[in-house]
Amino acid sequence: MKKIIYGILISLFFVSSFQAQQQNSKNRTNKDNTIQAPPKLIVGIVVDQMRYDYLTRFYDKYGDGGFKRMVNEGFNCKNNHFNYVPTYTAPGHTSVYTGTTPKYHGIIGNNWYDKEIKSSVYCAGDDSVESVGTEHKAGQMSPHRMKTTTFADENRLFTQMRGKTIGIALKDRGAILPAGHTANAAYWFHGADEGRWISSTFYMAELPKWVQNFNNSNQVESYFKEWNTLYDISTYTESAPDHNTFEGGFKGKETATFPYDLGALKDQNGGYEILKATPFGNNITTDFALAAIEGEALGQDEFTDVLAISYSSPDYVGHNFGVSSKEVQDTYLRLDKDLERLFKGLDAKVGKGNYTVFLTADHAAVEVPSYLKSLKIPAGYFDSRAFREKVYAFMKTTFKADELIENISNNQIFLNRSKLYEMGLKLEDVQQTIINEIITYEHIDKAYSGMSMTQTSFTTGIEELIQNGFNQKRSGDVIYVYDPAVLSYSLTGSSHGSSFNYDTHVPLLLFGNGIKHGQSLKKTHITDIAPTISAILGISFPNAATGQPLEFVLE
Ligand SMILES: [Zn+2]
Repeated sequence: MKKIIYGILISLFFVSSFQAQQQNSKNRTNKDNTIQAPPKLIVGIVVDQMRYDYLTRFYDKYGDGGFKRMVNEGFNCKNNHFNYVPTYTAPGHTSVYTGTTPKYHGIIGNNWYDKEIKSSVYCAGDDSVESVGTEHKAGQMSPHRMKTTTFADENRLFTQMRGKTIGIALKDRGAILPAGHTANAAYWFHGADEGRWISSTFYMAELPKWVQNFNNSNQVESYFKEWNTLYDISTYTESAPDHNTFEGGFKGKETATFPYDLGALKDQNGGYEILKATPFGNNITTDFALAAIEGEALGQDEFTDVLAISYSSPDYVGHNFGVSSKEVQDTYLRLDKDLERLFKGLDAKVGKGNYTVFLTADHAAVEVPSYLKSLKIPAGYFDSRAFREKVYAFMKTTFKADELIENISNNQIFLNRSKLYEMGLKLEDVQQTIINEIITYEHIDKAYSGMSMTQTSFTTGIEELIQNGFNQKRSGDVIYVYDPAVLSYSLTGSSHGSSFNYDTHVPLLLFGNGIKHGQSLKKTHITDIAPTISAILGISFPNAATGQPLEFVLE
């Protein structure tokens, strides 16, 4: 009997170790088959304020080498959304690259009220570093307020710092946050009187030769030319008439209509700043990205490099002219040409099939509310100043005290906690009293307490999105939500920031090494991008990533 039992145990042992061996070799085989050599270069493209429907609305007018190439060769995730509020630039870029939301990465806005130091801070502002490439303060920037790693950081750790990371955007935050804490460099554009690409001592002591050469060339100046439509304006049937009452425009030109003589408008519109607010800003970004690929020899060795590019200009154009404008249409038709030029450059320098590209946005945008109103669609404007006065007056009559509110910003009210304790007031009671009051105000549709965000776990709806955007250490005491298509903004132009589909629905296109051809309407989240890229590279996910790799896009 004993012998039999021993025999069974021994054979079980052999069977299980044989299975384990098989499993190991299977894993190895899988790995070899699916991952092969990792791409030499990951190119992340974030188009600031790109709505998903800019892909479909203008599709017939795009060429074959830009957006259409991504769709035809790669994978189109057609139902890709932000899964938190607020949908602003800094949280957007950070979430794409960290694979998580403000709850964890801490970038709760572009600017926010810092409860500890009792003043407003800028997401990338850093007085402990110096500007590089300019005498102005515009270079005093770093990612120090971002609490978690990006996939670019994880790639640096994985390659023992041999794979490079370069971040590029006209906006400092669009370059700095994606590139992460360990980037070799982030470069952003100082407009004003300079028109130069700059950086900070966080990255380097001085600009490398290729950047100096670029700045000393005449390339940027050459864009002070006429901005007219790329094709005959009468063919732009996918946008509203050029002359309407819903657009801003430039100082020094009476109507927001083509053409725009940028040389003549330069002085009244902030010098080089005006270029950022035209499609030529995208041209400058592409020129510089191509110079970076060459200057940094990106994608030339066995250690994967990361190039994070953000196209900031579409956001400026959208804010100025609005979602349905001819100016927005022209900006995207021209951006399509920039993408074609970038991909051709990558084919030539890195080689087709050696790189992987993803393209997404940091948020989308709402149609101009006054335009929607003209079409009888519910929309409107929120008067933030009147709101502030009303809430302050309410606090004074209710609690017989001044200074109970420290700050109102980003749809949040920050209470003076020490004053509350001093007066013996309970934080949650005061939060609820404010909610009961402001929910009666026009255009405030919902309001929540900071307390509810930390004590309840929301799994659906807007509550989940607010919670994902809520950082216990940094966010406010009361969070309020406007009605759909309501902005605290000028009567012209578009903006963003909400949890509604017009702000959350953005493209996610991937193509190149490791990416299948296909499309899906399955819902994906912006936080899935970083885990997907990590999976392609076989590296650790960013340390607080909450998204999932999109297995169905992988080859
Ligand atoms: Zn914006």
